[in-house]
Amino acid sequence: MTEKYVYFFGDRESEGSAKMRDLLGGKGADLAEMTGLGIRVPAGFTISTEVCSAYYKNNENYPPGLEKEVEENLKKVEKAMGAKFGDEENPLLLSVRSGARVSMPGMMDTVLNLGLNDTAIQGLIKKSGNKRFAYDCYRRFVQMYGEVVLELKPEEKEEDYFEVLIEQKKKERGVKLDTELTADDLKALVQQFKKMIQEKTGAKFPDEPYQQLWGAITAVFGSWNNRRAIEYRRINKIPGHWGTAVNVQSMVYGNMGDDSATGVAFTRNPATGEKKFYGEFLVNAQGEDVVAGTRTPRPVNRAGKKDERSISLEEEMPGVYQELEEVYQKLERHFREMQDLEFTIQQGKLYLLQTRTGKRTGFAAVRIAVEMVEEGLINKEEAVLRVAPEQLVQLMAPIFNQEEKVRAISENRLLAKGLNASPGAASGKVVFSAEDAIARAGEKTILVRLETSPEDIGGMNVAQGILTARGGMTSHAAVVARGMGKPCVAGCGDLEINYAKKEFVVKGEKIKEGDNISIDGISGEVIKGELEAYPSEIVQVLIDQTMKEEDSLLARQFLTLMSWADDIRRLGVRGNADTPRDVKVARKFGAEGIGLCRTEHMFFGGNRIDSVREMILAEDVEGRKKALEKLLPMQREDFIGIFREMDGLPVIIRLLDPPLHEFLPHRDEEIEELARSLGVPPEKLRAKVTSLQEQNPMLGHRGCRLGISYPEITEMQARAIFEAAAEVSKEGIKVIPEAMVPLVGEVKEFTNQKELIVKVAEEVMRDYGLSASGGLKYMVGTMIELPRAALTASAIAEEAEFFSYGTNDLTQMCFGFSRDDAGKFLAEYVERGILPASPFQTIDQEGVGELIKIGIERGRATRRDLEVGICGEHGGDPASVEFCHQVGMDYVSCSPYRVPIARLAAAQAVLKQRK
Ligand code: ADP
Ligand code: MG
Ligand code: MG
Repeated sequence: MTEKYVYFFGDRESEGSAKMRDLLGGKGADLAEMTGLGIRVPAGFTISTEVCSAYYKNNENYPPGLEKEVEENLKKVEKAMGAKFGDEENPLLLSVRSGARVSMPGMMDTVLNLGLNDTAIQGLIKKSGNKRFAYDCYRRFVQMYGEVVLELKPEEKEEDYFEVLIEQKKKERGVKLDTELTADDLKALVQQFKKMIQEKTGAKFPDEPYQQLWGAITAVFGSWNNRRAIEYRRINKIPGHWGTAVNVQSMVYGNMGDDSATGVAFTRNPATGEKKFYGEFLVNAQGEDVVAGTRTPRPVNRAGKKDERSISLEEEMPGVYQELEEVYQKLERHFREMQDLEFTIQQGKLYLLQTRTGKRTGFAAVRIAVEMVEEGLINKEEAVLRVAPEQLVQLMAPIFNQEEKVRAISENRLLAKGLNASPGAASGKVVFSAEDAIARAGEKTILVRLETSPEDIGGMNVAQGILTARGGMTSHAAVVARGMGKPCVAGCGDLEINYAKKEFVVKGEKIKEGDNISIDGISGEVIKGELEAYPSEIVQVLIDQTMKEEDSLLARQFLTLMSWADDIRRLGVRGNADTPRDVKVARKFGAEGIGLCRTEHMFFGGNRIDSVREMILAEDVEGRKKALEKLLPMQREDFIGIFREMDGLPVIIRLLDPPLHEFLPHRDEEIEELARSLGVPPEKLRAKVTSLQEQNPMLGHRGCRLGISYPEITEMQARAIFEAAAEVSKEGIKVIPEAMVPLVGEVKEFTNQKELIVKVAEEVMRDYGLSASGGLKYMVGTMIELPRAALTASAIAEEAEFFSYGTNDLTQMCFGFSRDDAGKFLAEYVERGILPASPFQTIDQEGVGELIKIGIERGRATRRDLEVGICGEHGGDPASVEFCHQVGMDYVSCSPYRVPIARLAAAQAVLKQRK
């Protein structure tokens, strides 16, 4: 820990900078950076994140020396602002703000107008000449301090003591809006608040400014570990040990009258990425008023206007707007990144209160990255790093069918139109609270709220989409939904929501809890009933070819970004696909081969399962062979389709893997029906089914163990592969089949199967007269999915020409977790921090990863050109892809729709390694 705890910014001088994000938190670092750039920022100082960590390590005690540093810095702030903390003539008021390394919007607490008491208020009145303003500040301060520091913040459903008193006062005065309360009303409220606080907490409200300051600092550090912050960190995988910084900053006032305002803005559209400055503001307001959604904000510029009635900042205060434009351009150029700004205007003077990298949808991320390269702001490598691979999922997610939507609208089912706050299509049952959404977690739901708050995170996470009546593009609902990649329509002012009755009314129509609605986050439309979703633009252009590339900016920009990624990456990317359709999708998404074709998936198509069952139930080899002969042409046809589609790219085909029991019926009726069709007595069949049952099928008679017991199965599959290859190569198409033996743990298991495969390959080549021309090129290899296989890899590589890591099984076998049963306790493990994430989602690098490394090292020691890849689910997980790159695999293979994600992750792995 460094000896310095506090970093000053103000008067164009700053001790911190944007580079010191880990130490100062994002907010503190960027406040310092803006100050250094000469942008007007109220002076203040940042207490570092190290103090937060030390505070928790040290039983909630501050490091010695901190207090002195805070006092010295406060003196500097007083000097910079020409005001004095707690003064009765010219009081300095402070805001105390949290700020972690990464932004956690609305998760932690802020206290504004700190330093007020019955003496200082006199100074504020004198200085501002505005009594109402002064008491508005005082009222806000006592309320925020009560909520945040004295823990009187209402939990969901609890009584909000402060709001109750405000409502009472409004009723008493016969007014509707907070803004209609007079200075005296507010003054009375302050006294009532203090009295209530004393009743509830048993202690007098602290009037001493220093006591207030330390109370607030401690509360902000404390908010790092509040329930919602912990929940947010869990969902967003943010480590708890980072801690938050505390920013203590002098106040500026957006609530000083009609020439004052507060607002938020994005330098580009965060939903679509369009290069248009977008923002919202409220006149005579402070703090969270804009994002809270209690008053509807106005657009900052003409371009953002939805209707003529709302006057923009550009029109109302052109001078200030001009300055705001200059500032945003300066910031975007400086950070070379889309920014999310918070500003306040005090009597016509603009102050910046925050800037940070703006959160955005996947659509916006791609567009902004590509366009910033075109603008010369960033290079291609930076662009590739700007899009989180997982975000590409959004680009491929279904959208509504345009025709169906037009029909719904013509049927008068368009309920309302709000802001297209986060793109995507969602249909589901209406619920009105986060709890109800969670209670219906298995169903599709749309969470409908007046506005959302951080308490709603859990519910937003399980809902299909979010619809709010209030708030804009920068409201909590909009920001969080975009972060989660969920469709959201916000600010749908026409909805009259009644939580008590669990219904909303719009256009005279009543929608109750459980009714279906659809929301279109691309257009902002809310439609009654369920709408069918339709393939995304990317899928329409690339796969279905129902849309032309030149008609889709999105598809063009996506392809551009992908081509940059391909230029950078070293890892190959293949797809896991079992049908010609999936193979085609994988190929169109850029797969350079098939990493896993599961033959057993083909056993279920049509009436094939009958022949499979006949084979399993056969009494002897002859009976099995007869059934297998029926399967042969079908498998061959499948492979022909796949080889044609892959045209010269490698295709790995895995031999039969699952236990045979999985192919048999289990319910009595089914068994009887099958017995009838096979012409055997049901008891006999039942006995057979029972005899195949295993205590622990995942460790039972499966994988190469089957092929060893029933060589005729392996022979048939090999024959199907090579005959298909021979057929296709007669058509002039190049084929590279790779036959893969599953679940090998001992090299002799592999040799046993390899001999059979090679024998069949040679027979087929002879029969097709291909031997003369050098024969077909093919490989025989194995999966590495048992710890013993990884450990004995040097022996296995003597025989196997390639390794493919089956990390699902390898994880099961390494941890001893049954994948089908681990769901019960894995979530708890992650929650308690025993594991950082489910090892089935992202590779456990320390354990499973170690086996992978050992296997590669030992395998390549024997066979230098051993081809190594991965075909488990992990092949499409960005963190795992990075790991595969680091350990020197040749390729990753994943499901077709994740191929672009893997391509991008593979490119990022190269760039991250270079750094
Ligand atoms: P969050 O991290 O939740 O965004 P902030 O620390 O940014 O919290 O504070 C919330 C809001 O409080 C800001 O958007 C701003 O409107 C207001 N605020 C914070 N600091 C000041 C200040 N020094 N002067 C005026 N308003 C402030
Ligand atoms: Mg903020
Ligand atoms: Mg397996």
